Amino acid sequence: MRFEKDSQGAGNGRVDVAGVVFGDTRLVLIAGPCTVESRSQMLEAACAVKEAGATMLRGGAFKPRSSPYAFQGLCEKGLEILAEARERTHLPVVTEALETAHLAAVAEVADMVQIGSRNMHNSVLLHAAGACGKPVLLKRGMCATLQEYLLAAEYVLEAGCTRVVLCERGIRTFETATRFTMDLSAVPLLKQKTWLPVIADPSHGTGMVSLVPAMARAAVACGADGLMVEVHGEPEHALCDGGQSLTPDAFAHAVKELRAVAEAVGRTI
Ligand code: PEP
Ligand code: MN
Repeated sequence: MRFEKDSQGAGNGRVDVAGVVFGDTRLVLIAGPCTVESRSQMLEAACAVKEAGATMLRGGAFKPRSSPYAFQGLCEKGLEILAEARERTHLPVVTEALETAHLAAVAEVADMVQIGSRNMHNSVLLHAAGACGKPVLLKRGMCATLQEYLLAAEYVLEAGCTRVVLCERGIRTFETATRFTMDLSAVPLLKQKTWLPVIADPSHGTGMVSLVPAMARAAVACGADGLMVEVHGEPEHALCDGGQSLTPDAFAHAVKELRAVAEAVGRTI
């Protein structure tokens, strides 16, 4: 398998996305709103997370929503706003492609294409993403075993992409106190099984803003190469995932608290 450490032509554990390197000593901090809601919301969040130490921007233009009546994203307009946010901050952008029909437009703007949890089993999309020419951030399916997850990554690699990053984002268990159960043992286990960098998403992983900073520290302590964190200027008015979004101030504080943990495990921010 191409994902295996000893596979021929395997990467060296580092994935370069427009100059930001996953798998380096320095952690990759991806931050931004769940969803691009407006130009001002995205630009303000982008500048704030940069100021706080983020090294990459996130924001969904095409959103996978549980309800068909929920806000589905600004789509192409959202991509334009993301491009402007990158211009403003010089931070590379990762955003989700929900289906193959969106891939070309997403890949044109994004520095990294995200394949979401709900699409991890979509082998057609995985293959197309692997052929789109951009690095791929592949989130773990919420009900996927690690073997299924690695095979999903294999689809992307097999299509010709050599820059794939994995993201533990919580799985479904019997527990209902949190939105998902963050499977942090997946982080060191994946790092034993594959050369691919592994990051963690404590926002979706917990669904609770009060747990995000602690689980971010825990993820770094167990070896994550980076984090993906949702940040919104006004979480109480967010159109999506406000309950798990940090304010810019809270994000800045969380990054400060992360430094000591990063240092303890030989990483920098
Ligand atoms: C996201 O990161 O925007 C997202 C929808 O996450 P997930 O696919 O992990 O649910
Ligand atoms: Mn979200």
